[in-house]
Amino acid sequence: MTTAVTKTIFDDIEALKKELIRCMKCGNCMAACPIYNVEKKESSVARGKIALGEAVLSNDIKIDDDTLINLIFNCLVCKSCMMACPSGVRFDRIILGLRAAIAKKKGIPFVKKALFKLLKNPELFDKGMKAFAAMQGFFLKPEGEKKRTPKGFLKGINPRLDEQFILPELTRESFRDKVKETIEAKSSQATAIFFTGCSVNYLYQEVGDDLIYVLQRNNITTITPKRQNCCGMPVMVHGDIETARELARKNLDAFEKTNAKYIVTVCGSCGSALKHEYPIILEGTEHEEKAKKWAERVYDISTFLLKVIKFEPPKGKVPLKVTYHDSCHLKKSMKVFNEPRQLLKMIPGITLLEMKKPDACCGSGGSYHLTHVDTALKIAKAKAEDIKATAADAVCTGCPACMMELFEGLHRIGESCNVTHTVSLLAKSYRAEN
Ligand code: SF4
Ligand code: SF4
Repeated sequence: MTTAVTKTIFDDIEALKKELIRCMKCGNCMAACPIYNVEKKESSVARGKIALGEAVLSNDIKIDDDTLINLIFNCLVCKSCMMACPSGVRFDRIILGLRAAIAKKKGIPFVKKALFKLLKNPELFDKGMKAFAAMQGFFLKPEGEKKRTPKGFLKGINPRLDEQFILPELTRESFRDKVKETIEAKSSQATAIFFTGCSVNYLYQEVGDDLIYVLQRNNITTITPKRQNCCGMPVMVHGDIETARELARKNLDAFEKTNAKYIVTVCGSCGSALKHEYPIILEGTEHEEKAKKWAERVYDISTFLLKVIKFEPPKGKVPLKVTYHDSCHLKKSMKVFNEPRQLLKMIPGITLLEMKKPDACCGSGGSYHLTHVDTALKIAKAKAEDIKATAADAVCTGCPACMMELFEGLHRIGESCNVTHTVSLLAKSYRAEN
């Protein structure tokens, strides 16, 4: 049952005013913005988009103006500008508020709407993903181990889907299907929910396996609720706040059915949605208290291991030169950047080599890489060159979406550097003990 929602910036564009006026137009956000760095246009950066928001509020531009809509959607929602902002402007709120207003006035485009509807129905979504996995041979051809690349005709649909586009093979069985819902630890020190996110559920199941292995090694009982849904971030960034609210409510109800004290994530975007967005989008609803309660219990795996539980340092040797990529949502929203590095340094044999710009966005931005192909490719290639310059054997990160983008960026510049997740290197070290 849904109750009335208090007016938030997602419901009432006027509520954006208090955020917009905090911008003092200093331009500090320019150097931090990956899109501005490529396009060099004022409209690409936070300051320019804030000016557009002001123009909307003063009725100088209509919210359903097509040029405005294109400019507002030309943003990765990477939050890099917020890190550089001396006024503490919550640009993430501004951009999502504007997109929500656009969606409300103009509606959601048909294809997106159909996809989002599917997301709201986990059984149907699951069937759709499995059907696509079974038919992927029609669209994608094998490219190396467990990787696929589009067949020629897809390039005509989207120029990004050329022969250089690489994605992991879709699995026919989801991670949540194959894993036991509750895995008891021998002498359990705590119980944690594993919020898998869609990427681990369908694409990067090895990351999920490694997470469970690491938790088991640390005597954590793991609950992976079958009924968990998409975190809602992909719909939120497209302005579909109602769908985001529905997904959030369903997830919270699934968490409530467990006796877990913590939620562990392996994806910066999922973690950020659960921890920072749910309490805001559910403000004033009957789920507000649940959202706040569970938000306090959400941890990225690296923080969970180092700051919450009694952690058993791994002893197995992993002789690798590794560079670490900061996922935008993990660093700039969840403020997690020291802990993964600490963990990597604890693994015997690993040498951590820093990039020049480890926290520069990879250019994925959810679907941004498919909708703004030229800019996103330039961002991805710049990231790949930075990785290459470290001469590392592997690049490691805390977000499966970044993993996909990094792999493709490296592939496009002809680099074969391995792409992995922090938790996978930890698991590798534990396994090497045996
Ligand atoms: S969120 Fe990222 S892409 Fe968007 S304006 Fe800020 S820095 Fe630029
Ligand atoms: S850095 Fe902050 S205050 Fe300065 S222009 Fe950008 S958004 Fe406005």
